[in-house]
Amino acid sequence: MSDKTSTQKSSRLKLDKIAIIGAGPGGLAAAIALRNIGFNVQVYEKAKEFRPAGTGLGLAPNGLNCLEAIAPGIVAALKSSGCQVHQTALKNIHGETIRANTSQFLEKYGQPLLTVWWWRLQQTLASRLPSDIIHLNHHCIGFKQNDHGVEIYFDGGKTVYADLLIGADGVNSVIRETLTGEGKPKYIGSMCWRAVIEYHHELFNSHDLIFIQGNQQFMYLLNVGKGYTSWITRKLWPNYSLSQTADEVKSRILDELTGWTETFRAIVAATPAEQIWEGPICDRPPLNCWSRGRVTLLGDAAHPMAPAMGQGANTTFEDAYELQASFSRASSLAAALTSYEKSRIERTQIIQTRSAVSEMRYYKPNRQTTNNDDFQNWLYGYKPSVDSKGTGDS
Ligand SMILES: Cc1cc2nc3c(=O)[nH]c(=O)nc-3n(C[C@H](O)[C@H](O)[C@H](O)COP(=O)(O)OP(=O)(O)OC[C@H]3O[C@@H](n4cnc5c(N)ncnc54)[C@H](O)[C@@H]3O)c2cc1C
Repeated sequence: MSDKTSTQKSSRLKLDKIAIIGAGPGGLAAAIALRNIGFNVQVYEKAKEFRPAGTGLGLAPNGLNCLEAIAPGIVAALKSSGCQVHQTALKNIHGETIRANTSQFLEKYGQPLLTVWWWRLQQTLASRLPSDIIHLNHHCIGFKQNDHGVEIYFDGGKTVYADLLIGADGVNSVIRETLTGEGKPKYIGSMCWRAVIEYHHELFNSHDLIFIQGNQQFMYLLNVGKGYTSWITRKLWPNYSLSQTADEVKSRILDELTGWTETFRAIVAATPAEQIWEGPICDRPPLNCWSRGRVTLLGDAAHPMAPAMGQGANTTFEDAYELQASFSRASSLAAALTSYEKSRIERTQIIQTRSAVSEMRYYKPNRQTTNNDDFQNWLYGYKPSVDSKGTGDS
């Protein structure tokens, strides 16, 4: 070992234990990233078991490049469990194609657009971690910190201690609420219904991502691989109310799709009512600071955004990559967190704001896209460009 390397190692940040709340895409990616650079990481998840859940997601080059940097080979695994999109097609409610664009992502940014099921993404990430560091059935209810550490509290009375706590617990983050006290997320006026089912329709080209524009309403169809399709429908709905039963949810959607071609209604009709998720689309205003003392945020907990631009999970993988880069170089926790925030806050504020504006634009007929080339290059061209393991090999 050279003198230079041994000096770098001895000046590196030392933490006995990092606790991450949430085993979603963000928490698991962050755990992989921090273990890469030698930290003891433990992940606490409220779900009692891993089970099929979540929606279909579009993973774009900015997210995939960051994920591949922290978990080499993972994009190939996601390609085989999901679908590589060749074309995005905009259709009207009668099934006629209004516009179709061949995906240029691979040529332009080095990664394709992949569509995957949140649950399979979670499983793919979890398979890169030792199973004994993921603690299921741990519902975090708060924490207290002092100069020496963080005490983390769970439902049922359990407490754990850590040197650093990362809140990766999603849009309704308990960690964020304990840090900021800002209250519930903001309903942005758009309702969502979604499901993932085993389904194939001969009219859907399996490498197409389909977007159907209705009246103040739209639907996505994503092939998420292995014979499964994710459908997502959203509607402008200023004063939302939730249905009382699963059957009511299903008939509500079918009512909303009155006049739509059977091709699109059929996928909803084929979905068992209890598998349909109904809920409001929420975000939060951007934060200017994500960390306090020994606690920080990541993913939707840090920057929840409207799904219009499909960037929630992608920016979460950028966070995980930058966390690894910052923690590999810093010699103190404060410096590591400052560097992490510096690399993330401004960029995610822009994407959060753009996403909120795009969400409302979706409901307008003949919507025009405002994502010009410069913005697209800035968004999708985000690449891990430094030696994030701090080995001096960059
Ligand atoms: C309809 C829709 C479409 C979307 N499409 C896309 C897309 O195309 N592309 C994209 O990049 N993103 C998309 N997103 C966003 C994406 O799903 C999220 O940004 C992403 O899942 C965030 O990951 P996360 O790990 O931060 O949070 P989550 O995925 O929310 O995971 C949080 C985890 O924390 C656990 N948890 C929560 N509270 C606690 C607690 N108190 N204690 C312990 N565990 C807890 C949860 O059970 C969960 O496992 C979409 C979202 C929606 C709603």
